[in-house]
This record gives sequence, C-alpha cells and structure tokens, in this order.
Amino acid sequence: MTVTYTSEHFKREARLALDQPNLQRALDRTTTLLQARRAEAYRAFGEFDAARAAGSRIKDHVLRHLDHYLETFEANAEAAGCKVHWARDADEACRITTELCRRAEAKTVTRVKSMLGEEIGLPEALDAAGFERVETDLAEHINQLAGDRPSHIVIPALHKTREEVSDLFERAHPPHRHIDDVAELVESARTTLREKYFAAEVGISGANFLVADNGAVCTVTNEGNAELTMQLPRVQIVTAGIEKLVPSMDHAGVLLRLLARSALGMELTQYTTFLTGAKRPGDRDGPEEMHLVLVDAGRTELLGDELAPILKCIRCAACINHCPVYGQIGGHAYGGVYQGPMGSVLTPAMASLAKSKDLPHACTLNGRCDEVCPVAIPLTGLMRTLRERTWRQHLVDRPTRLGLGLWGAVVRRPALYRPASRLGVRALRLLARGRPALRRLPGGGAWTRSRDFAAPPPGGTFMARYRRGER
Ligand code: SF4
Repeated sequence: MTVTYTSEHFKREARLALDQPNLQRALDRTTTLLQARRAEAYRAFGEFDAARAAGSRIKDHVLRHLDHYLETFEANAEAAGCKVHWARDADEACRITTELCRRAEAKTVTRVKSMLGEEIGLPEALDAAGFERVETDLAEHINQLAGDRPSHIVIPALHKTREEVSDLFERAHPPHRHIDDVAELVESARTTLREKYFAAEVGISGANFLVADNGAVCTVTNEGNAELTMQLPRVQIVTAGIEKLVPSMDHAGVLLRLLARSALGMELTQYTTFLTGAKRPGDRDGPEEMHLVLVDAGRTELLGDELAPILKCIRCAACINHCPVYGQIGGHAYGGVYQGPMGSVLTPAMASLAKSKDLPHACTLNGRCDEVCPVAIPLTGLMRTLRERTWRQHLVDRPTRLGLGLWGAVVRRPALYRPASRLGVRALRLLARGRPALRRLPGGGAWTRSRDFAAPPPGGTFMARYRRGER
C-alpha cells in the first residue's frame, strides 16, 4: 500500500487542514448532508438491523471459507470467458496489469475509480510504463488534473472548491474558456472524456463485489463511466481484492442495499452493473478479452488476526462521514489511501503500524462509526487493539509512555487514586478561577492550543458527588 504517512506528516497536514476555512466549510457541508441522507434512507428502509446482521453474516461466512469461494469464482469466471490472474502483492498486481496493457498494444488506458487500484499504486505504475492514463470518474479526473490524491473514498475530490475546478478545466479542456456553472463544468468533462473512451485500447476497473457462483463482476457508479470503460475498449482488466467475494447474486443484493444507503443515502446507485465474461459470439458489444487480477496484498495474513473483521469492509464511507476527526482534518492527513475510522484500522493493519501509529490514536472512541457500519465492523474495538499493539511494540514516545505508566500505577491503587484525584480537582479549579474552562493548562499545551479544557464543576471529585447522591 502506498503510504506517505509519518507522525510529522499527520500533524502537519492536520494543522494545515484546520487552518483552511474553505476545507472546513466543505467538510462540514458534505458530511452533514451525507449523514442526513443516510439517516433518512435507513428510516425509509425500516430493516436496517436485520439487513446489517445479514450483511455481516455474509461477509463473516465468506472470510471463513475464502479458499472455497476463490476457487469457485475462478472456475466460473474462466468458464464465462475471463482469464484470472493471481497477484501476491501490489508490485505483482501492477506488473501483471501493465504487462496486459503492453500485450494489448495500448497507448491510452481508461480507468474507473478503484480504491484497490490506489492501494496498489496502479496509477503510478501505468504512468511509469508510459501509457496515457485517463481517470474517468469525474472527481478522479479533477484529482488527476490537479496532481492530487483522493481525500475521501466515495467523494475523492471533496477538498476541491468549484473555483479550483473551474481553473483546472480552463487549463486542461479545449476550448480553454472559464466556466463557473456546475452543469457546464460537468459537460466540459464529459465532452473531453468521451473521446478518450473511444480511443482507449484497454479499460481498467475495480469491483464492488465478485460473485462466486456465476463469476460475475459487480460495479456501482453514479456517472455511467464504469459501463463505458468496461464495454468500449477491446481489452478489459478488473483489479480486485480477494475479500470482495460474495457467494451468489442474492448475497450481492443484500450488500448492495446496504452499500448505496450507507454511502449516499440512495436506495441503489444510478448504475449497478454485473459483467460476466468477455463478448460472446452474437453479442453486440463488450470487450474481446476480459482479465481479472485478484490481489492478496496482505489480506490472507490478516485472516487469522484479531484485526480480520476489517476485511468485511464494503467501502461505503459511512464511518468516515460520521467521524468527528475526519470532519475536522479531512482525508489527506491520513497519508494512505483510506481515511477516517476504516483507514485508521486498514492502513496500520495492512501497511505498517510503525509508520501509521498515530492513526488509531486519532479517534475519540465515540462509537458513531460502530453504529453506522453496515456490516457491523467493531471499528473502535479494532482501534483499541492497535493502540495496545503500539504500546506492546514500544512505538509510543517516551514521555507518553512514562505518563501512562504513572497513570496506570495510580489508578490501579484506590488509596493513591482518591487523594490524587482530589488534589487534581482542586488544582484545576484554582487554575480556572471560577471560569467554566481553561484556556491554558501547564503541560497540556497540545490540548489547549486548539480547544479549551473544561474545568471541574464545584462539589469535589466525581466519587465525592456520587456518594452525596448528586446527579
Ligand atoms: S468500515 Fe464499515 S462504515 Fe466504514 S467504509 Fe467499511 S463498511 Fe463502510
């Protein structure tokens, strides 16, 4: 997985994001809207708990029997006319994909947004191999023009303003005129991209689901770009993580109903496509060759681990949209491909905990992500597991380690804890001088730089008030 993450990167990018009023407005507007849409979709659905339990069971079942479903899928996909390739890691997946493009004598390669593609560094590999890579998802097209990375797994250009998009399109799209109107901007991208769909020799997509019992590849989009990318070029390549399997179309149906509602509050996305094999004799359209590159890249290693439930993720972004930390710092601070709670688990679990050790700590553990996850992944529990690992692997810095060690020694001994907490409450009240919150706290500058520290209410410690029966 491509990770540009270090502690310094995270802190610098988070601080930069907090200082950008435009970004703050965009994050607030978008996440508030998506939360409301999701809530409304589930109210109208009325079967969220049952569907979620079913979705979670399907994913658990597939992960338990992954070997069986992978073999079944391979046999059925090949019987339908696909060629299945296996890639152990990101490098192998990129090598296979670029080699397939070379064999197809491709000059232009169209691509549909795929988080797996970003994860394995496929855009960079295609560029390095000299192909003209065309991102066909509108937001990814914007990011490609800007040389930017996605900041959200469903809305990758969330960080861009309309004005920035206008400037980018003016520079890149003939006849290079300035456009402010959103509909006209979309039309400008559509016109430019349409030529590329017809010029491309190879189309590359990801997969939302791989259906084991008929070898079908399912993609969902709202723009129709996946259909053009998958149908028009002579050669079609699908890159997908091995955890994308579902046993049958019925199971795909359950997860599709959860995915669209969780992602954008829709009953279904505008386009839901099942592609089964290449063009057959008598078919009017479709690719002449279809290749599936099934990528492991750390997934089988995760299977037996405590963090395995993260492999159930269907990339809906509901946890991201409900995360107060993402809502403040946006997506780029996370450094990897994935953001928010799912990124704070996936990146350390699959890339490197040492490099991304701050991510599981960048969480208030408020549990909103657990509540909204449509396949019931215990995200905060997984983040606690990662926090324990950073401690056990000595990845926590020395002052924090000393402080936590001291805190642990005190809280385990009531005879020490009670007088210490009485003293602490008195000291904080003295420092607050009657104010409800402290603006500065000796030794707590990292906290008070960006927010106040609430002063304890009058009446002593929690235990003292509890004993008096105060509520
Ligand atoms: S962890 Fe759950 S809520 Fe978050 S993206 Fe994955 S499926 Fe969606």
